[in-house]
Amino acid sequence: MEFTYKISIETHQDSEMILITNQIKEAVQKSKIQNGAVILFVPHTTAAITINENADPDVKRDMLVGLENMVPRNQGFYHYEGNSHAHIKASIIGFDQTILVENGSLILGTWQGIYFFEFDGPRRRTLIIRISGQ
Ligand code: ZN
Repeated sequence: MEFTYKISIETHQDSEMILITNQIKEAVQKSKIQNGAVILFVPHTTAAITINENADPDVKRDMLVGLENMVPRNQGFYHYEGNSHAHIKASIIGFDQTILVENGSLILGTWQGIYFFEFDGPRRRTLIIRISGQ
């Protein structure tokens, strides 16, 4: 079986890391798939998705600061929108993740959470969730 869901994510900051683990768990429950995989895809060019620590909130803050330092905003970029830093950060983080499902649960490490990255907010974003299995 295979199900595709699209969820809306409202972002509130220029750059932000939003925990979305619960929304993905809810989609898996809704699909009733017990064993299979979830593919998450971000159909945007200045937003991204990753999996990382969901214990110390300073990790979120430090990741945003680290990315900001890796890709400073004003480097004489040519792109007319003025958001080249956001395009670059989104490509560094990436636009998809795959997570396995076992006995109806996501297989994630103890400290792992699923995070949606905004790099050019605030905006209303879409996340595509494809769940396959049986
Ligand atoms: Zn742009």
